[in-house]
Amino acid sequence: MNEELPLELLAPGAAAERLEASLAELEREKRIVETLYRVAQAVAREEDLHEIVQIVTDETTSIVGAQFGAFFYNVVRRDGEEYSLYTISGVPRAKFENFPMPRATDIFRPTFEGTAIVRLDDVTMDPRFGRNEPYHGMPPSHLPVRSYLAVPVFLPDGTVVGGLFFGHPEIGVFTEEHEQIAAGISTQAGTAIDKARLLAAERDARAEAEARSHAAVALEYVDDGIAMVDNDGVIRLWNRAAARITGLADAEVVGRPIGEAVPGWEQIALEVPVEDWTRNSKPQTLPLDAHGCELWLSVYGVGFPGGTVYGFRNVTDERKLEELRVEMVATVSHELRTPVAAVYGAAQTLQRDDLTPERVAQLFEMIGVESERLTGLVDQILLTSQIDSGNLASDPEPVDPLALAESVIENANVVARRPLVVLEAPEQVAPISVDRERVSQVLSNLVENAGKYGTPNEASQVSVRIVEAPHAVRFEVVDEGPGVPQSEQERIFEKFYRLDPDMKGGVRGTGLGLYISRELVERMGGRIGIDSAAGAGSTFWFDLPRFA
Ligand code: ADP
Repeated sequence: MNEELPLELLAPGAAAERLEASLAELEREKRIVETLYRVAQAVAREEDLHEIVQIVTDETTSIVGAQFGAFFYNVVRRDGEEYSLYTISGVPRAKFENFPMPRATDIFRPTFEGTAIVRLDDVTMDPRFGRNEPYHGMPPSHLPVRSYLAVPVFLPDGTVVGGLFFGHPEIGVFTEEHEQIAAGISTQAGTAIDKARLLAAERDARAEAEARSHAAVALEYVDDGIAMVDNDGVIRLWNRAAARITGLADAEVVGRPIGEAVPGWEQIALEVPVEDWTRNSKPQTLPLDAHGCELWLSVYGVGFPGGTVYGFRNVTDERKLEELRVEMVATVSHELRTPVAAVYGAAQTLQRDDLTPERVAQLFEMIGVESERLTGLVDQILLTSQIDSGNLASDPEPVDPLALAESVIENANVVARRPLVVLEAPEQVAPISVDRERVSQVLSNLVENAGKYGTPNEASQVSVRIVEAPHAVRFEVVDEGPGVPQSEQERIFEKFYRLDPDMKGGVRGTGLGLYISRELVERMGGRIGIDSAAGAGSTFWFDLPRFA
């Protein structure tokens, strides 16, 4: 009978012990399940590689009852395999910083290479222990490890990504169950690391794609022409500015050899030094014949392993200006030399004592006229430089347009020594508020030009007209000369621009008068222009606004 009685009745103490044991067992299993759950959650939730590995290390260290745990990440370097500490649990990181990273020694190797889990009750008793240089065992400051558990971490494709290592100073701490739990967690960790790596790679790819699209936008909107040419000389990229500058659309040139697609480029390629990208490139200014009109480009070339990138800018205007400047220096010095020579010659002659009083008077007059011409030239040059540097003062005052025109005309007639210029104007014109000197300057320029270029014979006359409009006063200077061809009417207002010598009858000048006139008129809020046809005389006019 007795044998059939429930055990607890027979031995209550033993039953209580067994109950306690099963409760402890249940509690332990609960902890394991909870740990696995937390790890699973972290793996599903976390995207940050470091965070995942830290959680895995912490949780496993705790569940296997290790005093410390670490995850070493496999890092392959050019000089061989090395392992770097990635996360650590249970001890301060500083503890590890004083001794070298673990190497694939006999004890460590199975974990790093993924061949086996290593679980040792006492690592110091293992035959593989203490065989390696330089420490023959643990480095002096190493944690006092006796129990040792090391589990490789695999990616889903089977490659070993690193290892989880656990240690305890006491002997025989890690059980087979610990080994299984750690192995299970390490599988999850491998999957999570893989996911995090993929996400990171995706993020990098997205960032790179974004950077590429920014680069593409910048290339399209940069003001320099950019051409990328491969090692066979074939154009691979031709940006919008390149198309605009050369007039060649990318569809016409991309995929074709640059020497063939861009006429004249061969010469450029010969003359432009191609620099390595680490060096400063040296732009060259070279001509390119684009659709029959000559372009001047400032071109540089930068080499890269796949070919050459050319950058270029249209410097045709600057080049023309430079040519004009050279021409201007020649013209101005010639223009200055003529009156200086005349004054010098007259002064020399005046030293003689055999001159008639008439001759003396003539020479003095000549000195006066030529000096005035010199002053005029110097004034023009100074005024141009003031205009160009933006240092032009203006001093508006009420000005009677009639009186101003009369004074300019009188002056011109004195110089011409005949009634060359006549005034056609209403009896009265309301005053305008302008800088008197500037307006006189413009009108004198136009009148002087009309006298120089617009009077083909002795009988020719120049008319100055004043026409009133409600909001402006118009000054016109009309001549009977050869006129200015339509195609040149814009350009004669450019700095230093002069018509072909045969069109202006050999009359000398600097090409600054109309440029100055236009600048002055526009700065006064007015407009200047010409009505003319070749052979039919010219009417130069300018309007000055009447401000209320
Ligand atoms: P400059 O008289 O010193 O050459 P301007 O700027 O005053 O310079 O004139 C520019 C050019 O315009 C002149 O060289 C001349 O060829 C042309 N031009 C100016 N005025 C006339 C005009 N009334 N008739 C014909 N051509 C003119």
